[in-house]
Amino acid sequence: MSGSKINPDHWFIEVHEEAKVLAGFEIEGKALYSKPSDFQKVEIYQTKNHGKLLAHDDKIMVTEKDEFVYHDMIVHVPMFTHPKPKHVLVIGGGDGGTVREVLRHPSVETCTMVEIDGDVVEACKEWIPKTSSELTNPKVSLKIQDGVEFVKNSQQKFDVILVDSSDPIGPATPLFNVDFYKDINKILSDDGIVVSQAESPFYEMNMQKALVKIKAQVFDKLHLYNYINMSYPGCLWSFSFASRGLCPFKDFDPGRVTGEFQYYNPQIHWGAFMLPEFQKKAHGDALTPTPTPFWK
Ligand code: SAM
Repeated sequence: MSGSKINPDHWFIEVHEEAKVLAGFEIEGKALYSKPSDFQKVEIYQTKNHGKLLAHDDKIMVTEKDEFVYHDMIVHVPMFTHPKPKHVLVIGGGDGGTVREVLRHPSVETCTMVEIDGDVVEACKEWIPKTSSELTNPKVSLKIQDGVEFVKNSQQKFDVILVDSSDPIGPATPLFNVDFYKDINKILSDDGIVVSQAESPFYEMNMQKALVKIKAQVFDKLHLYNYINMSYPGCLWSFSFASRGLCPFKDFDPGRVTGEFQYYNPQIHWGAFMLPEFQKKAHGDALTPTPTPFWK
């Protein structure tokens, strides 16, 4: 491929303006689905080597090939830290992959998913059953509305809240501000945990620092943990873990990890919180210190 000219009609390309990089996937023919919703352009393509690809406003959201990494890590780290998560709230997550993983935990009684864009859900139900398979599960309550409004008005308490949002642009912008997290805190149960998509420390360090600053104002415990995301520019991406007290180390019992996963395991659970130096330095004491590894 080196040096060969690529035919743009055969590629889905995401341009990352600030980082001046491209992420590209060779596609087969025209979009399987392409429609402007009330919030964003929603597209689904068949790629040559990464299965189906979901994109919003030309930004890659999901590829079938590697979605398991993101969905394992946003879900199983908090769900195996909480002693018995019964009621879970997912904000965003329109492709359904996060809900699919939440329902693998037998303790779950209800999973409420609040997605602002119904077209995303319908498109994924039709074209990406691999992620959307559990959206019709009786335990799932699917609400097509703004997550900010839902959180502001909800009377229910949740044990685990997962903010599975797109980048802070368009409808997702208010999901990255302190009022949203103050409202989240009101509907979190006493030993609740909230995990949020926290961008890439390579290409969005300012966004990540802003999110950490916001969540540090609201929660006593705040950590970042990393995972690899082949489909997103920058490849190294983070989630933020916040709670009033539950610790992803002390309160994590590896013996509870049962079931077959493709990415997550107890070692990955621990290792994900061991941050690279540049990321630790960038956040300084805004993050809760992680325990020194066992060998020291
Ligand atoms: N789970 C995917 C992955 O594997 O990376 C990516 C995230 S998912 C597609 C992000 C979703 O957040 C989108 O479907 C978008 O419509 C939704 N969203 C954005 N702003 C929202 C808001 N204010 N309330 C609810 N959902 C929102």
